[in-house]
Parts: sequence; structure tokens; C-alpha cells
Amino acid sequence: MQSTMQDVPLLISRILTHGSTIHGASQVTTWTDGASGEGEPHRRSFAEIGDRAAQLAHALRDELAIADDDRVATLMWNNAEHVEAYFAIPAMGAVLHTLNLRLPPEQLTWIVRHAADRVLIVNGSLIPLLAPLLPHLTTVEHVVVSGPGDRAPLAGATARVHEYEELIAGRPTAYDWPELDERQAAALCYTSGTTGDPKGVVYSHRSIYLHSMQVNMAQSMGLTDQDTSLIVVPQFHVNAWGLPHATFMTGVNMLMPDRFLQPVPLAEMIERERPTHAAAVPTIWQGLLAELTARPRDVTSLTQVTIGGSACPPALMEAFDRLGMRVCHAWGMTETSPLGTVARPPAHVIGTPEEFAYRLTQGRFPAGVEARLTGPGGERLPHDGESAGELEVRGNWIAGAYYNGPDAEPLRPADKFSPDGWLKTGDVGTISPDGFLTLTDRAKDVIKSGGEWISSVELENALMAHPDVAEAAVVAVPDDKWGERPLATVVLREGAAADFTTLRAFLAAEGGIAKWQLPERWTVIESVPKTSVGKFDKKVLRRRYADGDLDVTRL
Ligand code: ADP
Repeated sequence: MQSTMQDVPLLISRILTHGSTIHGASQVTTWTDGASGEGEPHRRSFAEIGDRAAQLAHALRDELAIADDDRVATLMWNNAEHVEAYFAIPAMGAVLHTLNLRLPPEQLTWIVRHAADRVLIVNGSLIPLLAPLLPHLTTVEHVVVSGPGDRAPLAGATARVHEYEELIAGRPTAYDWPELDERQAAALCYTSGTTGDPKGVVYSHRSIYLHSMQVNMAQSMGLTDQDTSLIVVPQFHVNAWGLPHATFMTGVNMLMPDRFLQPVPLAEMIERERPTHAAAVPTIWQGLLAELTARPRDVTSLTQVTIGGSACPPALMEAFDRLGMRVCHAWGMTETSPLGTVARPPAHVIGTPEEFAYRLTQGRFPAGVEARLTGPGGERLPHDGESAGELEVRGNWIAGAYYNGPDAEPLRPADKFSPDGWLKTGDVGTISPDGFLTLTDRAKDVIKSGGEWISSVELENALMAHPDVAEAAVVAVPDDKWGERPLATVVLREGAAADFTTLRAFLAAEGGIAKWQLPERWTVIESVPKTSVGKFDKKVLRRRYADGDLDVTRL
């Protein structure tokens, strides 16, 4: 029997129209350096964003001849114009391609060419990054510049250069958004390549729409139009975790830091603009914590903080709890849009000592995401909270393949997709009977010592709980006897006195680390190398060790 329900496609244009009318008074506030250099908020309402998105779509179609599924790239910080691009490009039927401005130049060039981007919208402040690459970006016909920054380095470019404001000025503020197929491409994002070459994930209108509804659920981020979200996670990093789309559905105000991502301006934004929610990777929060400890400020508005992208160290969660900012841990990846799990503890543990343990897990799977664990021999493992295996997922906003060029079949590498189409995450962990995921490591980072696994994350968390340790990363290094052993690389706080023997004893006594798992190789480093999205870059540490660049002490 057929249903009798309407079949209205799930489209980005619908989210835009809803947000810019019903929630037209909500605001996107972008941080700027202002005339005095003091830091100044610039405000634009959702209604204005809607008008300007329509103008941008007219400009792209009528002036720059963007049609069908042409790719329009953005090389931008989090700001109001980037939000306009987020809606205009997919709503008109083209494909938004967000470029990660922290990637090495060769990778950026490769990605733009692979995606065959025709137009590139760039923030003026990023022209020094773009200009030297531009001669190699052979598919790019037009560069559109938005915001302050010297344009001179673009002189002589083969691509035509336009000013964003001039390009959209005077165009109609309404656009007859086409009724698209909800399964067609809306946005393209390449993985940041922490563990390999970047791969293109193509989100559909449908996947973004459903994911936005998930972000808005009370057991997820659950924000309303009474909230302001400080969106630190970059718009080029998995659609800023879906927040710009989700906020347009519910009227949540956005506070966008643009290029002011250092701890001092972030602390200032929080004090002055009083956001209620914020989202970023742990590295950002470590920096902010140090700043707030050194120079306390009124940050009492910020009661909910979403942390994901890499594991949230328990010490960090406790420190933020003490500041009154409640951390909510979440897990996801580029391939999962990214919301996979969110750690909202179940009702029966609220107020009990168990609550904290639940909050430290990666979180619970929502109805839209199915999960299973696969053991080393390919066997299915029970969700008993103990059996650890590789996590595989499938669902309405999970990738089923990677982009492989306009005329090629999508890529489904066997190490990323199971024969029956599930995404192999490369993450190792357990799932409890009530659906909470606990990751013990990445498959590529786990330390295989004498036939047993040692979790690098567990050692790092235990180390970072020591007051003298600012940051710590643990990597596997070859060992004649055991195959692999852990190498602890430690960043000490200023004036710290702890030596390696003390830290090792601390791991055993306070960290509860089994004796055979304790590292015997130790080194102090200035800072932990980070990837383009702020995660520990263990590839670099392993290479430095192999090259003999680290001064290692053996206990
Ligand atoms: P890349 O894979 O290039 O680093 P992604 O941003 O897609 O880029 O990273 C996804 C990966 O990040 C996950 O597979 C997982 O290993 C890690 N990750 C994300 N969130 C968490 C978390 N809360 N705890 C631990 N690891 C996480």
C-alpha cells in the first residue's frame, strides 16, 4: 500500500527560506578587528543573510555563469558572508566546496583541481595564501574577494577577480529557488587526511537536512532561538559540524570568530557577546582554559560546550565544569556529516557518580545512525561495553563512497567500506548495551605490544591529568622484543618540575595504568604537532622519532 503523505524534497533552500523569514530577526555576529583594533562585533540578521544569499545566487548565475552542479569553492573564515555562500550555492543547485585553509599548499591545489572548482570566494585576509597557488588552480575562472585585505597580490591573475560586495550589489533580493532532487550534491568536503590522502565526501540536500534536524534534537545540541552559539569549529571542517544549517532551522544566533581564533580574542568575545553555547576541538579549549586561568573573566553565559574531533581529556572536562561550562562530548568524522554520537548521560545516572563516566564516553548513537563492531578476524562483536573492535556505521547522513571526478564511478575502497556498504571508521572501541560508544584508539594509533593492545589515548589522558603536563601525545615505536612500545612525548607547563620517573610513577599510581603498559621511552617536546584541523599529528611524531630528531630518555 502506498502512503498518502506528501513527498516534499528535503532541500537547503527550504532551510534558508524558513530561517530568513520565520527567524528573520536572529543574528549572525562576525568578529572584526574594528577601527580601533580593539575587536568589534559586526551584526547581520538572518533576514539580511537571506536577501544577500539571493543576490549572490543571481550574481553567480547571471554574471559568472554558474549552472547545474558546478563547484563553487570557499576559502574563508567563519563569518556572515561564508554563511551566505553556504545557502546560496546549494540552494541554486550548484555545489559548495569548502576549502581547508590550513592544508599544505600542494594539497589545496590538488583538491581544487580534483573538484574542478570554477569559482573561488576568498576572504581578503587569505589572499597571501591564495595568490601563489592561483596560477596552478587551472579550473578556477573567477575569484571573488570578500572583506578587508590587500588585493595587490592578485594583480595579473588569469582568473577574473571580483569584489564580493560589488558583485552582489543591486541584484534582486528574491530568487526562485529550483525544486531540486533531494539526493543531488549540495556540498563537498575533503577529509583532512590525518591518516592518508584527502578524500572527497559529497553531502546531499537530504543528508544535510536530516543531519540538521539531528543537531537540533534535545539529546544532541538542542539549542533554541534563546541561544547564541559561538561557532569556533571552522566552516571548512565538516560544515562547522552542521551548525550553520541547524541554526537556520531554529533561529539560534551565530557568533562567528572570523580569523580571531586565539585564546585572548575568544575569551573577549565570550565576555562581551555572552554566547550560551560553543563548539570546537579540544586544542582550542586547552588554549582558552590556560587564558581564563591566567586572566579570569566573566564567562558565566557559556553553559554548554560541545567538544569533538578528538577525545576530550577528562582533566579538561573537569576544569571546564569548575568554570561552570558544561562540556558535552561528541564523536564524528567528515564521512558522518559529522554527528555520530553525543554524550548525554541516560536519565537514571543523573546526579550519581556514574554520570561523569557517561559524559566521558564518545556518546550515544541517535536513531539515524546504526553501529556495529568488527573484530580483527571480521567477526561481529557484542555491544557489551567490553568487546573492542573496529566501529562500522550506516545511516541517513553517513557517506557510502568518495567523490572520484565528474565522470568516474565513486570510490569505495575496501578499507573504508564493507562489502555490504557500511562505513569502516578506522576507530576502535566498545559499545555498551544502552548504545554508548567508548573509543579506545584509532586503528592506526593503537600500540601493538607483544600481542596486546595499548591505548595511546588512555596514556595521554592519564598524563594530561598531571598538573605539570600541558599536553602529551603517545605514539607506537618499533621495539625488538615487543614489536611496538609506547613513546611518551610531553609538553611541560612553564616552571614545571616533574621528571620522567615522577610522571611514570604518576601513571601507575593515579592513572591506573597497568605496569606492562607504562612507557619506558620519554621525551619533552615544545608543542604537539597538530593537523590542519587541530588534532595531534602522530605521523609527524613517528617520523621525527624514526629520523632520530627526538632526544629520548629510556627509563
Ligand atoms: P581526519 O579523519 O582527517 O582526522 P575527521 O575530522 O573526519 O578528519 O576526523 C574523524 C576522526 O576524528 C574520527 O574517526 C576519530 O578518530 C576522531 N574523533 C572525532 N571525534 C572524536 C572524539 N570525540 N573522541 C575521539 N576521537 C574522535
